Amino acid sequence: MTFAFPPAPTVSVPVLGSGALFPVHRVYCVGRNYAEHAQEMGHTGREPPFFFMKPADAVLVVPPGSVTALPYPSLTSNFHHEIELVVAIGTGGKNITVEQAPSHIFGYAVGLDMTRRDLQNDMKAQGRPWCIGKGFDQSAPIGPITPKAAAGSISQAAIDLQVNGVQRQHGTIDQLIWNISETIAQLSAAWALQPGDLIYTGTPAGVGAVVRGDILNGSISGLTSIELKVS
Ligand code: MN
Repeated sequence: MTFAFPPAPTVSVPVLGSGALFPVHRVYCVGRNYAEHAQEMGHTGREPPFFFMKPADAVLVVPPGSVTALPYPSLTSNFHHEIELVVAIGTGGKNITVEQAPSHIFGYAVGLDMTRRDLQNDMKAQGRPWCIGKGFDQSAPIGPITPKAAAGSISQAAIDLQVNGVQRQHGTIDQLIWNISETIAQLSAAWALQPGDLIYTGTPAGVGAVVRGDILNGSISGLTSIELKVS
């Protein structure tokens, strides 16, 4: 049997320090996982973690040392940045425990959960799915993946986003409401995690809009920074 037409190429992200590519399976995202961001979105307290997905081909690879074009998407006039730590899964599993979770991690990267906030808010107000606000093309920029052993301790790392050289978002990974291991445990209770899954772990406070021409610089200490220009 042959395919009716050529299958889409495998989406992949470069792995730092090797010629290897990390083949992307699914892209999971955690909602409202920093307290101050939950508050700026009108919520309080520690609610159970909740998840949404982006299509794997929404990934936009940001090579190190480059300024990558980030297309301003259709249908929005409120295009928001959310800087996030991305956890790359190397070993799959179901019902992974918090204690087992670290052994399932392949590595980490700097990512952006770009959001059509106006459309997301419309969908929220109507009780409809967030897909159109979150899962659009090129909505998941990501830098190269640093293997876990080379990343050192990520749990206290600083996470920052600048727009045109001005700091918009700042936090530390230890401010996550649901930490990396807890997130993996909760996700794997709902889905069978697979090698190649990416988890965008949530954004600190300070989300806001960008316009064409803006330069975004995202960084997490210990990982490779990303730079994009809204085009
Ligand atoms: Mn997010």
